[in-house]
Amino acid sequence: MKKRNVAILGSTGSIGKASLDIFISDKKNFKVILLSAKSNYSLIIKQIKKIKPSYFIINDYDVFQKVSKKFNNSKTKILNNYKNLPIKINFDITISCIVGIAGLEPTIEFIKRSKKILLANKESIICGWHIINNISKKYKTTIVPVDSEHFSIHQLTKNFKNSDLKKIYLTASGGPFLKKPLSSFSKIRVKDAIRHPNWSMGKKISIDSSNLMNKVLEIIEAYKFFPFSIDKYEIIIHPQSLIHAVVIFKNGQVKFLYHETDMKIPIANAIYDNNFDITKIIKSKKQFLKNSTFLNFEKVDKKKFPIVTFLKRKIYNNSSPIILNASNEILVDCFIKGKISFNGIYRYLKLVFNDRDFKKYAIKKTPSIKDIYEIDNWAREKTLELIGDNNEK
Ligand code: NAD
Ligand code: MG
Repeated sequence: MKKRNVAILGSTGSIGKASLDIFISDKKNFKVILLSAKSNYSLIIKQIKKIKPSYFIINDYDVFQKVSKKFNNSKTKILNNYKNLPIKINFDITISCIVGIAGLEPTIEFIKRSKKILLANKESIICGWHIINNISKKYKTTIVPVDSEHFSIHQLTKNFKNSDLKKIYLTASGGPFLKKPLSSFSKIRVKDAIRHPNWSMGKKISIDSSNLMNKVLEIIEAYKFFPFSIDKYEIIIHPQSLIHAVVIFKNGQVKFLYHETDMKIPIANAIYDNNFDITKIIKSKKQFLKNSTFLNFEKVDKKKFPIVTFLKRKIYNNSSPIILNASNEILVDCFIKGKISFNGIYRYLKLVFNDRDFKKYAIKKTPSIKDIYEIDNWAREKTLELIGDNNEK
């Protein structure tokens, strides 16, 4: 059988590296044609030498120049922008795993060039699902969500409609602060927040997991992706992260999907359409029977994790998610840089939502790419302005 051509957008990240490992372990069936990253020079060099892709797209201009010089006469063409990729280059599978809204445009471009997209970049679903969905229909591209909760919902709800369902729970581990007393939240440092108990992930999503913003984003992601109404979705704490979603059906059945905490499981299942042997990809860390006695579920403590209450503000509607996402990207970055405290993330988000211009930007029903950037820009500037105005951390 002909080898399948593969692209990975964000190949130096946590999901990108996991995906690359899967393709490397099956060179007989896959050929990695294109990789992309922002600026991790040493890993980019390593990946070019090891994988020898035909193209490597590097977002950061200085790093692009440095790498271009080094691989001047190489088989790998170094590009600074996906827009410079020749039109005839197409893919069987693309993994879209850039972090943040930066993933939106490349995802849209690669839908046009790919038979199947594994979509990890949740920010692009949240902000531009209507565009992604339209283009994927036009180009007949299959989109599989690989965020673990969404992969599970996808598997569990195939052939069911909204009226068949009672509830869909997205599980949250509760992050590193599940058992930490609320009184000490004001002292949380970046290194505590990025230390996730169950998953090893990029910095941004780790911080989003520590205050449960990740679950708020994921509820919006699910609402956009699946044909189910928002009232069906709920967050539930499940500290072991072994069940990823629970679906309660009106017919009395409850289904859930259990798998170990390794993103290679949803990614590989999406690549191979569930038809493969996982032991060829990961060594099993745990055993189902040993774990099964420890499957706990509890309600979210809204005092500790007030960010989940944003869902009550209908933050999933129209262009509100673009504002939520952009402000959050800025706030996470400011927290990492020590400009605001951990609790500040929630406080500043509230200020942005209460801003007198919020409504003006939040009501666009089907924003174009240009609108998305305009709204995203307003939210970023407004957030920075509020932080600047406020001396208190
Ligand atoms: P990461 O920070 O480890 O990697 C991000 C990747 O994006 C890197 O390759 C980086 O070079 C690239 N990138 C960053 N900014 C860019 C830009 N401006 N232009 C082009 N490339 C850029 O992140 P991650 O943990 O792998 O997460 C990636 C995406 O997958 C996120 O949207 C995240 O929410 C989602 N996701 C991750 C996990 C996980 O377990 N890590 C699970 C579910 C969903
Ligand atoms: Mg997830």
